[in-house]
Amino acid sequence: MTKMFFSPGWAPHVWIPSSSSFRNSMSLAEPAEKYLEVEQIGQGAFGTVSKGLNRATGGEAAIKKMSLRGQNRERAVNELLLLKDKKNPNIVNSLDSFLVDGDLWLVMEYMDGGTLQDVLRQTHMAEGEMVAVNQECLQGLDFLHGNPVIHRDLKSSNILLGMDGSVKLADFGLYAQLSPEQDQRRSMVGTAHWMAPEVVTSSPYGPKVDIWSFGIVTIEMVEGEPPYFKETRAMARALIQQNGTPQLQEPRRLLALLWDFLECSLEPDEERRWSAQELLQHPFLSSAKPLSSLTPLITAAKQLREQRRR
Ligand code: ATP
Repeated sequence: MTKMFFSPGWAPHVWIPSSSSFRNSMSLAEPAEKYLEVEQIGQGAFGTVSKGLNRATGGEAAIKKMSLRGQNRERAVNELLLLKDKKNPNIVNSLDSFLVDGDLWLVMEYMDGGTLQDVLRQTHMAEGEMVAVNQECLQGLDFLHGNPVIHRDLKSSNILLGMDGSVKLADFGLYAQLSPEQDQRRSMVGTAHWMAPEVVTSSPYGPKVDIWSFGIVTIEMVEGEPPYFKETRAMARALIQQNGTPQLQEPRRLLALLWDFLECSLEPDEERRWSAQELLQHPFLSSAKPLSSLTPLITAAKQLREQRRR
């Protein structure tokens, strides 16, 4: 099918990237003709996310609406281009995209289990369940880093779950594409409490910053929140720089293998920090429960959230 640059939703005052990759991604159809919007399911800093139904197939979809006006437009375009190009079972899949009145609508597969953060806020994960989630996240990171892409904003609220136990990385607005000419970045990007020491000090960095953030996600699985969570963002960054590998609130409760796994991920020296590929070989990952073991946890988290809302 031939695709055109200007969709019905094009507005003259809106910045539209001129790259053919962006233009070729846009669907010409009216989104309302293709998708029925059911309800809003998420509100991020950069737009809203709604649940939709494909009118032809009845299949569920998540519709993320992001403005192409103002300073967040690059973030929106970034996310679209990454999801279009990088397909993997552990990366949320994009299905469609539209330009609507100066907004970019990105249609993705609907992850009906919500975010990992939703589950961690309401329930406690057993070790085998943590291992299962870790394995899936590392597979996603290994794929990204091999491409070579840095996510730069990995945290439990950017990890999506399916009711079948599938685990996928999401929210790629801040990703960085590396190349042989530019194999490192410097800008301080991401969410403070999950930032690696080399990010908070504005030193050159590579994909291993995601491994640090992944280690912090593992701490979230153990303790329910990242280190220094009660501190301001500025204080958290200062503590990350000062303390290196964070201390846990109750380190003695940790099993030796999990502790070792954390130390390999949260090694302050980027060179010595393990890669996703290396962590996939760590003995801690040998005790994974099947992904289906996550289903009761997700269900319990949903029920608890519903009860608390009433
Ligand atoms: P943030 O402020 O965290 O950067 P954002 O504006 O970039 O957010 P997302 O994090 O991508 O937006 O999405 C916001 C919320 O919408 C998520 O926390 C999640 O609850 C929901 N959501 C996003 N994508 C999906 C999806 N594919 N399936 C189901 N729910 C989703």
